[in-house]
Amino acid sequence: MIKKVLIANRGEIAIRIIRACHELGLRTAAVFSDVDSNAFHVRMTDQAIGIGPSSSSESYLRGDRIIEAAKKSGADAIHPGYGFLAENAGFARMVMDAGLVWIGPPPEAIELMGDKLAARRSVQKLNVPVVPGFQKEIDDVNRVRDEIDKIGYPILIKAAAGGGGKGMRIVKSPDELESAVKAASSEAKSAFADGRVYIEKYIPSPRHIEIQILSDSHGNCISLGERECSIQRRHQKLIEEAPSPLADETMREKMGKAAVDAARSCGYVNAGTVEFLADNDRNFYFLEMNTRLQVEHPVTELVTGIDLVKEQIRIAEGAELSLRQNDIQIRGHAIECRVCAEDPSNSFMPSTGQIRSYREPSGPGVRVDSGVIEGSRVPIYYDPLIAKLCTWGGTRLEAIERMKRALSEYCICGVSTTLGFHETVMDHPAFRRGDLSTHFIEEHFGGSSIPAEDDDDIVEAAAVAACIFDFLDSKRLATVAMGAAGSRWKTVGRSEALKRGSGK
Ligand code: ADP
Repeated sequence: MIKKVLIANRGEIAIRIIRACHELGLRTAAVFSDVDSNAFHVRMTDQAIGIGPSSSSESYLRGDRIIEAAKKSGADAIHPGYGFLAENAGFARMVMDAGLVWIGPPPEAIELMGDKLAARRSVQKLNVPVVPGFQKEIDDVNRVRDEIDKIGYPILIKAAAGGGGKGMRIVKSPDELESAVKAASSEAKSAFADGRVYIEKYIPSPRHIEIQILSDSHGNCISLGERECSIQRRHQKLIEEAPSPLADETMREKMGKAAVDAARSCGYVNAGTVEFLADNDRNFYFLEMNTRLQVEHPVTELVTGIDLVKEQIRIAEGAELSLRQNDIQIRGHAIECRVCAEDPSNSFMPSTGQIRSYREPSGPGVRVDSGVIEGSRVPIYYDPLIAKLCTWGGTRLEAIERMKRALSEYCICGVSTTLGFHETVMDHPAFRRGDLSTHFIEEHFGGSSIPAEDDDDIVEAAAVAACIFDFLDSKRLATVAMGAAGSRWKTVGRSEALKRGSGK
């Protein structure tokens, strides 16, 4: 039985895992880089061990140092979270070779699903629908032109080892083909040290819908419904929800079965996610399998009532799933907004610095998974995700209205964030109708219509002052902000909410 878990991660996901461990009565050890020595996850854990300089290649990506830390701490298991080493089969093997429990899937499954071509071949054996396209990498463009004509343009060139949208190129006509293949291949080679590329049909305006699965080491595998993650920017998800506004019972059942088959095809064990592209006629195609816990797992937890991290730990201990497919019921609707330290009005550029004041929303149906508190520093070295704000409602509309309410209560001063951007999306008629696609942001927010965050020094200073000095009266604050753009009112409004919240 696992008694102590080392968490090979940082930020909100490290805290999420620490919480699950504590609820299970397990002790935790965290690791931290130099810049994170005072981070929130370090304060939340039972024990913390420094693993090196701030750059992730010198710390959170150093499997050897992490295993050394696990041994030093007396941990008997390692949870990788997501990102960093979570999908590194070599690290999974190192963990097991060191006699520790790996809270994740078998390394062979990570390897197979990490290769998009191998994954396509594997799931097709069990008749899971894949996007029409090639089963092999392209070695000579001119020899495959006829085959591509049959698929029909536009097509998408993808890297077999791809991730994060790297090595992808849309090709609209045959004359662009050769140069696009070369460019995609060299990008893939430098990003993944693997230049293999292949071709898929480009699905115009697809929806991204994924299925959460849980699989134990006794051959049981169940699906926990879908999440729709179509609101993306440069292939990065910004808003996720469960269930999908598109899916009906029939689609859910078919996708669930396809996801379970995909998992079985690679001998999967633990929590995983099978991603699909879907069109508005409810056709769906396998995209890839993510062999780890997803950022957006909380929306599934909210609508199923299942704690996925606890399930991961039980599965890693060798327990049989306590749930059967018939036990899974979807109740209500949940939405997640990724709160990133980024400036949406400036191409979502990372915004670093110190969080000078911070207040989270709460109340009915609100869940905040955050990696920061007041005074936290947002360093340049890592992912800009600082918190995930989730709301649950009996209906989609209630979840949306709750999200708007929660966003308006959220106060973060000191760095730019995506809070204002999310408020705008929640009000957008197409979003409210559930009329979503992966092109939603480009289609509806062509640059200039993305609201500016509050970056005016004076207004920010007023907002911070309001957080600190509760004797400032609201009228004076409003005067300071007079003449400022609409969104600046919001900062002051939030600081007033904070002031009111102080109970004085
Ligand atoms: P990565 O692993 O690099 O993130 P994915 O295969 O998961 O790549 O695709 C990322 C995103 O790219 C998808 O969510 C979708 O928006 C888009 N995409 C991928 N394949 C296609 C396709 N065949 N047609 C249209 N869009 C696609």
